[in-house]
Amino acid sequence: MRKKLVAGNWKMNFTPDKAREFVQDIKETINSDEVDVVLCVPYVSLQAVMEALKGTHICVGAQNMHYRDEGAYTGEISPKMLGSMCVPYVIIGHSERRERFGESDTTVNLKALKALEHGITPIICCGESQRQRKENRTADVLKKQITFALDEITPEQAAKIVIAYEPIWAIGTGEVATLEQAEEACEIVRNQVFEKCGPVAAEKIRILYGGSVDHTNAKDIFAMPNIDGGLVGGASVKPTFEKVVHYA
Ligand code: 13P
Repeated sequence: MRKKLVAGNWKMNFTPDKAREFVQDIKETINSDEVDVVLCVPYVSLQAVMEALKGTHICVGAQNMHYRDEGAYTGEISPKMLGSMCVPYVIIGHSERRERFGESDTTVNLKALKALEHGITPIICCGESQRQRKENRTADVLKKQITFALDEITPEQAAKIVIAYEPIWAIGTGEVATLEQAEEACEIVRNQVFEKCGPVAAEKIRILYGGSVDHTNAKDIFAMPNIDGGLVGGASVKPTFEKVVHYA
């Protein structure tokens, strides 16, 4: 039985002060040992949020990182830096980074390997565009993304990572995938993990759905057999995030 995981992706929201205040307000209501809760916050708020979460089961995560430990990469944050802060999770390859910041299947893989080297659990994102879905290419796109992302990752490592299926057309649009679409895509992802890393990894890996998840639809989505929780954007910076967590 896989433990459910609800990760909030705050994206570029909240100053550190506001982040601390928000977490103070909701932490009691989202603190649970029955579901893993991760708040992926902007780098500058990591420290404040970690302090605010002390004594709870809730974890923080970063939203990106470089794949090198150090060097002349102005403006970047390294896995070594996140590791030294004991940040347990990092989102890798979000479609907003793939589309707007040149993230590729290759860098996604390099980052995932590096995160694992530093003991950080990667939340690897995949998902098709509206056009790819219309052209019936969803399965091919997902298989390719997962095959690249898991390159050189061992079955033992794969069992511990998290994959988030986020159809690009459902992100921030209010147009959530149907239960059938979400389940079918997550099953394709799990089958691809099976192909690449074997049955144990495929059984253990947690696959999340992301894209317009909120307290009105989370319950049904999280009940699907291949969906182990959600990666939540807009609804994770609202007080109703508490309800989303409770449906997991
Ligand atoms: P929304 O929940 O706002 O659609 O965002 C989803 C997302 O991109 C999470 O990473």
